[in-house]
Amino acid sequence: MSAAWHSLAGGMPESRLLASVAEFTHHRDIDALDHSLVLSIAELVAVKSVTLCKAGDSLQHPVESLTVCMRHDDGQCIVEAVEPMRDGDPVDTIVCAMETLEVISDVTEAGLCRLVVPIIRDHVAIGALMLEADDSLDNVRVMMEGFARIYANYIALLNESERDKLTGLYNRRSFEQRLQRLLKLQRQRARAAVRAEERRSATDDVAQIYLAILDIDHFKRINDTWGHVYGDEVILVLAQQMRACFRQNDVLFRFGGEEFVMLLASEDETSAAAALERFREHVANWAFAQVGHVTVSIGYARISEHDYPEIVLDRADKALYYAKQNGRNSVRGFEALTARGELAEPVALGSIDLF
Ligand code: GH3
Ligand code: MG
Ligand code: MG
Repeated sequence: MSAAWHSLAGGMPESRLLASVAEFTHHRDIDALDHSLVLSIAELVAVKSVTLCKAGDSLQHPVESLTVCMRHDDGQCIVEAVEPMRDGDPVDTIVCAMETLEVISDVTEAGLCRLVVPIIRDHVAIGALMLEADDSLDNVRVMMEGFARIYANYIALLNESERDKLTGLYNRRSFEQRLQRLLKLQRQRARAAVRAEERRSATDDVAQIYLAILDIDHFKRINDTWGHVYGDEVILVLAQQMRACFRQNDVLFRFGGEEFVMLLASEDETSAAAALERFREHVANWAFAQVGHVTVSIGYARISEHDYPEIVLDRADKALYYAKQNGRNSVRGFEALTARGELAEPVALGSIDLF
């Protein structure tokens, strides 16, 4: 790390600033990008800490994550993901900057100068940058607003590359990363719940993640009867219905043609199965324009952080294959089928191409 970190914006050579921007926009992985952003800023500006806050998805969860770069007494900068607190300083200040879309410049209770810059995309704060230092940060305010704008643009680009063009759902390329993020979020929420309610065991009442694969039944017939344009319309409307029916925390993917994957965080298998069953029924009752009624088959399996995703995809696919072989228009769970001995080995390859 550079020993010249003490220089402030006034005396900073432009080449260092550009090198810093080039460094953090080099990353294609969002977590690596976040890590690099806070470190780059800490190397440019004389700060005690730099925090990148990502906005949460609701009023109950205004903060999704905090990535903090702390400068230690020996000058070393250490970056770590910190569990977001629910309220109190500094989260209240960060949330205030995100709600008002205004930069906040104040002094903390510990007497540090603080600058909080909202990161704005389409008139909404997607996060905020917070700097704390011994001396005034007024001279880096414009530079930090620039960093926030570059970060927002870059995140938008990365997000676009993760989406399927027709439906706007996540694409298959982003599956592994989204899964890891969901598992990480799950761990954080479990820890926060344990702390908040002083539960004896971290595993009590902690939601499980279920991976489901959905495939439209007899889709070839739809294409053959009505043509590909209507086929595409069915895929689009189905994706819209998925968004409306599943919870915001559930992660939805279009994996390919008329195949979708869902990652559901549910208390237990019964509620995961119920959510999938509700959706299956909803689709079966939906009248698609011109095409009329369409049904779907769904297979699912439980996934934990110790599982290889490909293995769980394969399990969910076997359950889907079973649904296809046994009347379609149904939801089947791998664990239940296995427990009842209904998945005879070896099972023929299912419909989904694995990695
Ligand atoms: P099953 O009930 O067994 O799933 O029967 P199916 O006819 O749906 O069979 P399968 O899932 O294997 O085939 C899907 C067909 O979907 C194959 C292809 O012609 C069509 N398809 C794949 N991608 C697209 C797409 O993006 N748009 C349209 N309109 N059709 C697609
Ligand atoms: Mg298919
Ligand atoms: Mg199909």
